[in-house]
Amino acid sequence: MRGALGGPRVLLRRLREVMAEPVSAQERLDKVVVLIAANMVAEVCSCYVLRVDGTLELYATEGLKREAVHQTVMRADEGLVGLVASEAQPINLSDAQSHPAFSYRPETGEEIYHSFLGVPVLRAGNTLGVLVVQNRAHRTYSEEEVEALQTTAMVLAEMIASGELAALARPGAEPAIRPHLHLEGVALSDGIALGHVVLHEPRVTITNVIADDVQKELGRLDAAIATLRADVDDMLERGDVADGGEHRDVLEAYRMFAHDRGWLHRMREAVMTGLTAEAGVERVQSDTRARMLRQTDPYLRERLHDLDDLANRLMRQLMGVNHAPARDQLPENAILVARMMGPAALLDYDRKRLRGLVLEEGGPTSHVTIVARALGIPAVGEIANAPSLVEPGDAIIVDGATGDIHLRPPTDIENAYAERVRLRARRQAQYQALRDKPCVTKDGQTVDLMINAGLIVDLPHIQDTGAAGIGLFRTELQFMVATAFPRISEQLSLYRAVLDAAGDKPVTFRTLDIGGDKVLPYMRAYEEENPAMGWRAIRLGLDRPGLMRSQLRALLQAASGRTLRLMFPMIAMCHEFDQAKAMVEHELTHLRRHGHVLPERMEIGAMVEVPSLLYQLDEMFARVDFLSVGSNDLLQFLYAVDRGNARVANRFDPLSPPLLRALHEIADKGGKHGKLVTLCGELASDPVGALALVAIGYRSLSLAPSAMGPVKAMLLDLDAAKAAEILRPMIDNPSSRIPIRARLQAFASAEGLQV
Ligand code: PEP
Ligand code: MG
Repeated sequence: MRGALGGPRVLLRRLREVMAEPVSAQERLDKVVVLIAANMVAEVCSCYVLRVDGTLELYATEGLKREAVHQTVMRADEGLVGLVASEAQPINLSDAQSHPAFSYRPETGEEIYHSFLGVPVLRAGNTLGVLVVQNRAHRTYSEEEVEALQTTAMVLAEMIASGELAALARPGAEPAIRPHLHLEGVALSDGIALGHVVLHEPRVTITNVIADDVQKELGRLDAAIATLRADVDDMLERGDVADGGEHRDVLEAYRMFAHDRGWLHRMREAVMTGLTAEAGVERVQSDTRARMLRQTDPYLRERLHDLDDLANRLMRQLMGVNHAPARDQLPENAILVARMMGPAALLDYDRKRLRGLVLEEGGPTSHVTIVARALGIPAVGEIANAPSLVEPGDAIIVDGATGDIHLRPPTDIENAYAERVRLRARRQAQYQALRDKPCVTKDGQTVDLMINAGLIVDLPHIQDTGAAGIGLFRTELQFMVATAFPRISEQLSLYRAVLDAAGDKPVTFRTLDIGGDKVLPYMRAYEEENPAMGWRAIRLGLDRPGLMRSQLRALLQAASGRTLRLMFPMIAMCHEFDQAKAMVEHELTHLRRHGHVLPERMEIGAMVEVPSLLYQLDEMFARVDFLSVGSNDLLQFLYAVDRGNARVANRFDPLSPPLLRALHEIADKGGKHGKLVTLCGELASDPVGALALVAIGYRSLSLAPSAMGPVKAMLLDLDAAKAAEILRPMIDNPSSRIPIRARLQAFASAEGLQV
């Protein structure tokens, strides 16, 4: 290295000696800055540490006035030092004072120094401080010098992270090794959880930063890279979803990076400065992470992630650490943090200890979300860089109702959340007390409250909610969380388990609603411009009958000697129902011919999700045993709003005259035809929604299990006739500018109803 005395290797060796000396933290830090200044032929070397209050404090200096140590404190966005910290990037200037961000602090006496090189002190992508060298002369520091200072900063990062400096800090101004972070994501699964971070893919923590023998370290790095390349080639050869389910494009990206000369060169360079092979990987990975934290372009961020994952693999290779976390050894109150996770992986964890889930990706419809909801695990998604921001064991709060995350919360926030958890528990206990009460309104109307389900983990909810049965069993969920098509025997055993768990209570199975946006990873997907309106559900079932036939066979066998209630999704025309029913008849004949015991009783219905059915209600009622309204899709198609698009999904309230008129007409016609009408969309899970539905004549609703308590509590206190009286004019003469929801809420509060 030009201009340096002895180069970075000598410096690192000396620093190692200083680290091992039995001196105080301040003395050690003072020695470190002297060593760096001497080695880099700089007149000044200063170390700033980021504090919990977000400011940067001068902790040690060689060259600036010593009185400024622990006195000079700047905001994190102040001056060049602040810029280095906030950008997490080096700044190299030959004339610092002409830089617009320069801020002069008279107590330091730094006005005479013109050149400035500042590098962030980074650990796992987080800034812990800033290391600066300065010279009087107008000098541009060489690339090698920048590199050397960054390497040196790693040693400081370890020192800060060890907590050694806390003894030098005033209370409330400790080094921000683990600052409180409030992060806002997307609420995926309701509930509040307080606990401690467990990384789904644990990071490797390096313990040995400085090399004994550089050549040996280079050899270790080269060998690890060779193994990594062979592994990636292997994974690609083995096929698409090998080794933890990585997707092919991810593997292609891995291969590209594993052979990327620039990346390898940077790691070798880092090792050549005197770091161990693993510290060299981390040194370069730290830069990647810092870039990742700033990157807003989703594609580039994705690629940086791939590179980060690959560096993790390399690190594990070097440290000989096993990939798989100990899933059966979760600590109490574990909050799982992951970039992304498959549903099967979540089910592998010990449910009794798992309290919450935080995902970097993962939207409301992702499969892991479906499972988290079924398990009642509060979950938040779309927390950018989540795994990089946390340390295992960190205290964390997950608010699955709002999407807020508090990492390392201060006591007041923790107390407030703990109070909310207690409140929820109290309310839950009140709901629990209503469990075995029949659901009859104040004016004597019985309302059947059932639950929606789809996975084996949902079954205990029949008992603990006191539901009248399962109003919607989404059979596609078993297919969505599997890694390959569930065999007919697996379908059969799930359906049997469902019927066994329900006992005498009715279960309505919905045939597969896959295709379109409900993609199965192992099924060939077709490019569709509007998948929700595309080749899905019954359309796919009728066009490719093989799949539906085997499902029907499994359902019919599972219900042998019992009642089978069956319904078809996305029926748009009566003849689709006729065709589907004919398939059932066909399978019945087949089973009968083979001597199977058939279901004792069959009830076959259809879902009302496509508005075209609204104009065929009489014909449909003449055919079906029952109709079940899928208000999620009916709303989506009636208003032409994509239910999965956050920009428009909440644009129209289902509690508005057009949808309520349609729903009223379905219930009304059902009554005239003497056929059961039920509703299983989300509207029934919203207490105000349920109030409106009962007011327009619905006497059977199917809800999310968590909605059972609040909806039942409301209905028990409701005067249904009175609600009908006030709602009817709102629907028939929608003149008022006050929305129906607001008026129903006002009614509820006047009646003392909790909604
Ligand atoms: C609906 O559309 O309302 C419904 C219950 O079906 P899903 O939410 O599964 O589409
Ligand atoms: Mg639907």
